[in-house]
Amino acid sequence: MSKPPAADAPAPRPGLAAELIAWFDRSARDLPWRTNRTGYRVWVSEIMLQQTRVSTVIPYYERFLAAFPTLRDLAAADIEQVLALWSGLGYYRRARGLHEGARDVVARFQGELPADVEQLLSIKGIGPYTAGAIASLAFGIQTPLVDGNVIRVLARLFAIQEDARQARVQKQIWALAGSLVPQDRPGAFNEALMELGATTCLPQQPLCLLCPLAPRCDAHRLGLAASLPLLAPPRAPTLVHAASLVARRERQILLGRRRPDALFGGLWEPPTVEASSPDEAADLLARFASRPAPAGEVQHTLSHRKMRVAVFTGDPAPQPGYPPVYDEVRWVQEGDLHLYGISTLAKKLMKKGGA
Ligand code: SF4
Repeated sequence: MSKPPAADAPAPRPGLAAELIAWFDRSARDLPWRTNRTGYRVWVSEIMLQQTRVSTVIPYYERFLAAFPTLRDLAAADIEQVLALWSGLGYYRRARGLHEGARDVVARFQGELPADVEQLLSIKGIGPYTAGAIASLAFGIQTPLVDGNVIRVLARLFAIQEDARQARVQKQIWALAGSLVPQDRPGAFNEALMELGATTCLPQQPLCLLCPLAPRCDAHRLGLAASLPLLAPPRAPTLVHAASLVARRERQILLGRRRPDALFGGLWEPPTVEASSPDEAADLLARFASRPAPAGEVQHTLSHRKMRVAVFTGDPAPQPGYPPVYDEVRWVQEGDLHLYGISTLAKKLMKKGGA
């Protein structure tokens, strides 16, 4: 087993950056956020791409940029409109963070993203990865970025045989990434590293025979490529029971808006109550539903929660006591649903309830 390099060790890989950038210039995918690059466009694309596939993001990105062509347009928009455009993309906190961040930039930086890593990090919703992406890709600043793809590529290049979920190892990987970023075209290098992870240095079956870095890769040389990075298993999702009321009348559907600080904050859904068991959920539903009739079950897995939701059709009770997670409950025209932020889970609930 090779010893992992120390965090501050110089990266002994001469020519790596030039080789990787040359490969990127030859084979980069044609993606909408790679043209007309600005800090704002990089920001939107990088937030959308977190935890989400490129093919899923493309139509969302294009709709979002059409609705909010500039950072000032986004800052001036209502959060309802932002969430409506984000509907189905998941991880809605990202949309709220982006919106708050845009308002922060207007308030403190006259609507222009600063070309400075420390100042970028001071903006609401911008963490080290996003700051590195905006600074290097949009402004050509020599600074690293580390995401899941970069972790995988660097853990393999340097055959790091420790749990890559550990903060100490991630710090080591950030330091390695920092030591590799060239002065010339730092953004292209960072993007190439992510592209290599997305297209070639794949999680299960790395395509080492096609990889421009194979001659410099320790994991490839040691036959460890497919077994790295080492990752401790993630926490198993918690099972959550819930019951949901899909109430309809004259082409309208009853929806509740979740409080801003709740999971799915600001999104609309059929009124739903969570409980520790299916029976308890059904009992709690009776506080706001009149003569509920079972319509089936919806299962939905989020990163830390596995939801099992019993769906009921029926009417709201005469004096409904909705769960406190909603700050508003109203009848919505079914033709207006596209104007509302609605999660994939809520769409499944409505479908199961016949809406
Ligand atoms: S040689 Fe294989 S393991 Fe190493 S960086 Fe390339 S694809 Fe990844």
